[in-house]
Amino acid sequence: MTEQVPTKVDMEKIVSLCRRRGFIFPSSEIYGGLSSCWDYGPLGVELKRNIKEAWWRAVVQERDDMVGLDASILMHPQTWEASGHLKGFTDPLVECKNCHLRWRSDDLADNNCPSCGGELTEPRLFNLMFKTFMGPIEEEANVVYLRPETAQGIFVNFQNVVNTTRKRLPFGIAQIGKAFRNEITTGNFIFRSREFEQMEIEFFVKPETDKEWFNYWLEERLNWYVKFGIKRENLRLRQHTKEELAHYARECYDIDYLFPMGWSELEGIANRGDFDLVQHASSSGKSLDYFDEESKEHFVPYIIEPSAGVDRSTLAFLCDAYDEELAEGETRVLLHLHPALAPIKVAVLPLSRREKLVEVAKQIYADLRQCWMVSYDDAQSIGRRYRRQDEIGTPFCVTIDFQSLEDEQVTIRDRDTMNQIRIPISELKNTLQAKLAGEPLFVLPPGGKIWKEEKEV
Ligand code: ATP
Repeated sequence: MTEQVPTKVDMEKIVSLCRRRGFIFPSSEIYGGLSSCWDYGPLGVELKRNIKEAWWRAVVQERDDMVGLDASILMHPQTWEASGHLKGFTDPLVECKNCHLRWRSDDLADNNCPSCGGELTEPRLFNLMFKTFMGPIEEEANVVYLRPETAQGIFVNFQNVVNTTRKRLPFGIAQIGKAFRNEITTGNFIFRSREFEQMEIEFFVKPETDKEWFNYWLEERLNWYVKFGIKRENLRLRQHTKEELAHYARECYDIDYLFPMGWSELEGIANRGDFDLVQHASSSGKSLDYFDEESKEHFVPYIIEPSAGVDRSTLAFLCDAYDEELAEGETRVLLHLHPALAPIKVAVLPLSRREKLVEVAKQIYADLRQCWMVSYDDAQSIGRRYRRQDEIGTPFCVTIDFQSLEDEQVTIRDRDTMNQIRIPISELKNTLQAKLAGEPLFVLPPGGKIWKEEKEV
């Protein structure tokens, strides 16, 4: 018997699970850590790769109106003048006169330091871009910036992509990559850090079709999170007020997720109009017009930008998947991760370390590893091994027992239902393939043969 334990997941549980099981560690931990920088461990790197892969698949591979790009992190400094980052990428900050912590003044309810209650200074502007120097001489002429967003790399390559791919409007360019912001208020684990990864789309459209495409991408992006397991009631769309709108945006919505600390931005979707291409054209002196063969007109396309964070998505998928339930008097912690996102797809568990069993189990392990990330675990009781896999979100365990040596069958155990089926080893790969693709547990392709399903004992 299992029953739901009513829990609203708190951040400490997620941080502790991530630390304990090797999803995420504080950066440079042996030196005491580096404030708001994080390292993804063996499981975290798999989860993050799977999220990026699911995004890339949805927005590039499965579409014929999108292509990818991987621009460099360091860009010509003029980029940031044209984009408005050098002037406008600032936050009004206040500093506590007592403890010297800095805060974003627009986050504060009154004029007291949220940490110690001390008096705060007047707001001051502070540029969020990290500065560095290119070449051996540290002088102003050699200043370059670590990009604070991946978007600009796409804008400056617009003409290159049009010329080399012969893409016609409407079409988009997608990019995944690191971005850096010297954020003032960091925290909430990987929600806001100084080095993070973005998944950005710049979708170029005819100006008069901007509203239609804006609405299209809002829906498309919201559905992507739901498809990969986030509960719809934990997502909301929030429109930016006039005061909030960035200098480049005509309209903007955030996709917010109900994080443990409350509703916060997961992804921003903006109608940037022709701001970016006009700015870069005038700053570089190169035309970034588009020639429409149908109407024989030159014009500057409008841009719809769905801009998502890899780290915030990772946190949202983890929080939404986290669950605790009572199973036979014990709390079972599990991550209901979508199979496409789960770091490990299958665990191979021999019931004992006897040579004959190990031989079969190792053969299965080697075989399945050709297809997926698979783990092998022969330590401690089978119950404990199942719990270890539940806690990291492994959708299926394959158990090899003494009977397997005689009937050449193994047991597949399902993470969410704890149901088990017994099937021939020869059918294992096909069955797992079907189940990982979301087909019902007990139906095998192609013949639709049904295997007996039993409760875990
Ligand atoms: P916020 O208001 O929370 O600082 P933002 O509006 O500045 O975010 P955008 O510039 O719209 O963020 O960036 C697009 C996406 O990049 C965000 O929705 C978020 O997922 C991610 N992102 C931005 N800043 C950070 C950060 N410091 N740490 C982690 N992810 C970030």
